[in-house]
Amino acid sequence: MVGIMNKYDVVVLGGGPGGYVAAISLAKAGLNICLIERDRLGGTCLNHGCIPTKALYHYAKTVHSINKHQLQGISTGQIELDFDLIMNNKQETVDSLVSGVEILVKKNKITLIEGEGKFVDDSSIIVQCSNGETKQVSGEYIVVATGSKPILPPITGLKEGMDNNFVLTSKEALALIKIPNKIVVIGGGVIGMEFATIFNQFGSEVTVIEATESILPSFNKELIKRFKPLVKKQGLNILTKSMVTAIDKTLKTVTYEGKNGPESIDCDIVLCAVGRKPSFNHISLNNLSNEIDDTRKIIVDDFMRTSINNLYAIGDVNGLSLLAHSASKQGVIAAKDIINKFSESNREINSITKVKGFSSYSVPQVAFLLPEISQVVSNDYDASKKYKSGKFLYRSNGMALAIKESDGLCKVEYDEDMKRLVYMGILGETGAELIHTGVHGIDHELNFNDLTDSIAGHPSLMEILHETLLDINKMGIHQI
Ligand code: FAD
Repeated sequence: MVGIMNKYDVVVLGGGPGGYVAAISLAKAGLNICLIERDRLGGTCLNHGCIPTKALYHYAKTVHSINKHQLQGISTGQIELDFDLIMNNKQETVDSLVSGVEILVKKNKITLIEGEGKFVDDSSIIVQCSNGETKQVSGEYIVVATGSKPILPPITGLKEGMDNNFVLTSKEALALIKIPNKIVVIGGGVIGMEFATIFNQFGSEVTVIEATESILPSFNKELIKRFKPLVKKQGLNILTKSMVTAIDKTLKTVTYEGKNGPESIDCDIVLCAVGRKPSFNHISLNNLSNEIDDTRKIIVDDFMRTSINNLYAIGDVNGLSLLAHSASKQGVIAAKDIINKFSESNREINSITKVKGFSSYSVPQVAFLLPEISQVVSNDYDASKKYKSGKFLYRSNGMALAIKESDGLCKVEYDEDMKRLVYMGILGETGAELIHTGVHGIDHELNFNDLTDSIAGHPSLMEILHETLLDINKMGIHQI
């Protein structure tokens, strides 16, 4: 039985990094917010994505570093891994972050409904609660933040393989109870390569099968060209221009059409990591049929508004950028836009004077590999234009040499007409942190002087960025 309908200023459907950030931003402005989540707060990011993979990556990186130092004055003998303990530690990290979000939601006086929500009409949602109850809520505004799900390609035997846990998606791979001897990863994008790197360092024999001509196709070709020999040295087997055609769960084989015709590999598990797609069909958002384009995402404008007046869509569900930090930023943008609408209708809420659309921000991309690969590209980057470039190698930097992290390259591109930075890419240690210099430079349209007229501490990896930026005008000190 459905109880009385509760009315809120805003109802947020989905409690991932898009939804919970939107809910908190709205609540901080004094609005009355309901957040609906069918699983655990934190969404894919905290529970099955960014955080658990990085917890495992940390172990993989530590193993890699210890092994590297075996030839550099530290001897530990054969490394032994306690996989149970590693997985427990990973889960502890996840649990502590999820409970942190639960506390934030509570402290911000957000009503959390645990259950699966479905639209009844454009402004009300019925929730099948985890405790068996059914609740109906309505909101002056609704923010859809239901995330994405893995793409399952039409490969013969894939579905049957999933039914008996021979084929896994990233979610199940994060719940493995033992380290597999042999893994085939379908897909050489960021998620596939991160898992491949983790299990390779844990001692599995890993083969990545990628259909296109290169792994990590969204990253700059020069960075990937330098990365390939490093990954090969780590023992990863990468097959490009190879298409998986069949999976046999009984024989435990994967068949693919490669450069030399059809071939098969045997393995203990297959990880299917060919990408993710927006997930919203289950929420009965029928009125949005015009808003859903042929790639099956909810179309939004730069402020996350759909064409239905009171309805917003943020995060993976709108397909603009399937990254956690994009989801959170979009949550903040949608919240600010809604807060302004409430303040226009004379509610006692402080308006936010200027809301910038999502396209005014550049989005950093990071692949947590050995080493990290990161890049940031200006939104108006024109691939056909010849920009001025600057480069610097990690091996010419004192700190990189001192910490035995000399494999790497930083690269920038500069628009001489507009006098601003348009690209920064880093293959190298701590690239995930260093890239924010590029984010700042691009977002604030800094010119050569702004970018270079400062002091980088010595010795530090920041000096690599400083030298790279100076190289735009061939003014670097430590290169010829
Ligand atoms: P989600 O995080 O998916 O949250 C959506 C939430 O909505 C879920 O909690 C779901 O349970 C809930 N929901 C859905 N439907 C309903 C309903 N009808 N009723 C109630 N609740 C509902 N991104 C990065 O930026 N960095 C990384 O390092 C990174 N690593 C990743 C690693 C992996 C293995 C994966 C799979 C993803 C990774 N991502 C990473 C991507 C990142 O996780 C997503 O971009 C991000 O979680 C999207 O946030 P969201 O809020 O849009 O959706």
